[in-house]
Amino acid sequence: MGSSDTICALATPPGEAGLGIIRLSGSDAISVVAKFFQGKQDLLKAKSHRVFYGKLIHPETQETIAEVMCAIMKSPHSYTGENVVEVSAHGNPLLLQRILQIFLSSGCRLAENGEFTKRAFLNGKLDLSQAEAVIQVVRAKTSSALTMAVQHLEGKLGRHLKEIRKKILAILSPIEAGIDFPEEEVPEVSSQGLKEDIIEVIEQIQELLKTAASGKILREGVSAIIAGKPNVGKSSLFNALLRESRAIVTPIPGTTRDSLEEWADIKGIPVKFVDTAGLRNTRSRVEKIGIARSRESLAKGELVLVVLDQSGKLESYDLELLNIAQKKRGIAVLNKSDLSSALDLQKIREAYKGELVSVSALHNQGIQELEEKIADILMEGQIHSDTPMITLMRHQACLERTVHFLTESLGTLEKNYPLDLAAADLRGAAETIGEITGDYYTDDLIEKIFSDFCIGK
Ligand code: GDP
Repeated sequence: MGSSDTICALATPPGEAGLGIIRLSGSDAISVVAKFFQGKQDLLKAKSHRVFYGKLIHPETQETIAEVMCAIMKSPHSYTGENVVEVSAHGNPLLLQRILQIFLSSGCRLAENGEFTKRAFLNGKLDLSQAEAVIQVVRAKTSSALTMAVQHLEGKLGRHLKEIRKKILAILSPIEAGIDFPEEEVPEVSSQGLKEDIIEVIEQIQELLKTAASGKILREGVSAIIAGKPNVGKSSLFNALLRESRAIVTPIPGTTRDSLEEWADIKGIPVKFVDTAGLRNTRSRVEKIGIARSRESLAKGELVLVVLDQSGKLESYDLELLNIAQKKRGIAVLNKSDLSSALDLQKIREAYKGELVSVSALHNQGIQELEEKIADILMEGQIHSDTPMITLMRHQACLERTVHFLTESLGTLEKNYPLDLAAADLRGAAETIGEITGDYYTDDLIEKIFSDFCIGK
C-alpha cells in the first residue's frame, strides 16, 4: 500500500470560511507536513489518530505561514488506507493556497478529482458502490436522497449484491469443474437444479430493479402539475406548498427555472410544482385552447394535482381533468375547505377513484396531509423498506445486463445446449454484477466514475 505518489488538495470549498482543510495522502504525507510543522510534538514520531497544534514555518525564511491543527491517520487505518494528514487552518483562500504551495513544492502533487476516494477503493477500504455513495452523500439535495446515500455508504447495497454474485458463482462453479476436468469424477450437474437456482437469482435482482423507479425519483425529482379551472386556487396552492416545504435548487443541473415552476422538498423527495394558472388565466382562453392543451401539459407531469373549488359547481372541465388524473398518478385537491361545500362528491367518485385531499390553500389547512399523500404516491413506501434502493443509473444498467445474461443462460439450458455455453453467460452475469461493487472492473470504468468527483474528495 502507498507505493504511489503522495497527493494533496484543498478539502473544503474555496472562499472565506471559519476553517479550511488541506488533505494529504500517501507514504510521504506525514513527512511532507513535518518539514514545516513546529509544535510540541515531532510529527514523524506522532501516534496515529491524534490531532496536533502547531505552526507551519517556512524552512528558509523562518516566516510563519499559518497556525494549524494536524490530524494524523496512519496506514492502513485511514480513509484511503495510506498515511493521511488533514491540516486545518483559518479559512482564508490565500492562506490555504500558500500552504498547498509549500506542500506541492515538497514532493506532493495535486490530487485528481476523486483521487482520495479512488485510492480508498483500490486499497480495499470501500467497495465501488460505497465509493459512489460518497459523492451521493456530498450531493444529496433532500433528506431521503441523503438517507439512501448514507445507507449505500455503509455498504448495505454492496453486501446485498455481493451475496447475489456469490450465488451466481456457486451456480457456475460445478459447471466449470465439469468443463475443466471432464475426465475426473465430478458430480453430474442437474440442469433442472441449475435452472431453478438461476430463476431464483433473476427474481432477486428483479426485486432490486423495482426500486430503481423510486431511486430515479430521488435522484432526478418529479414534476407535479397543478391543474384546474380558473379561480379554483391553483396559484394559492402552489404558494402554500412552497411556503410549507423548503424550496430547493433544481436537482438536475442545467435546467432553468421560471416563476411558474419551483422545486420543493416534499418529505425528502424533490418535487417540481408547475402552476398552470399562468399558462391560461381567462375562462375564454380555457375554452379556446380546450382540453387538448391541458392534456399536453398534464402528460409532462409524473403527478397531477387536480384542484377543485369545494364551494363551486362541478363542470365538465373538472371531470375531464379527473379523468386524466385517474389514468396517471394523481390527487384530487378539494380546495377552499373553509367555505361551505357545494361539490357533488358522488359525481367526483364516479369519474375518479384515486386520492382525495381537502385543503384550504388560503388558510394553509390540510397542506401537510397533501404533502404526505404526494410522498406516499411517489415512493409507494419504498424509502423505509429493507431492500436497498437502486439510485444510480449505472447500477440499474448493470443489473439489467446481469438479468439478460442469466436469462440467456437459462435459454441455453432449456435447449440442452452444451453446458459451457451457459457457463459463458453465467460468467458474464457474475462480471456484470461485480462491476457495481468493483469486484470486477476495468480501468476505463474507474476513470469514468471518479472523474465525476470533486478535487479533494
Ligand atoms: P387560480 O386561478 O386557480 O390560480 O386561483 P387563485 O389561486 O388565483 O385563487 C382564486 C381566488 O380564490 C383568489 O381570490 C383566492 O384568494 C381564492 N382562494 C384560493 N384558495 C382559497 C381557499 O382555500 N379559501 C378561500 N376562501 N379562497 C381561496
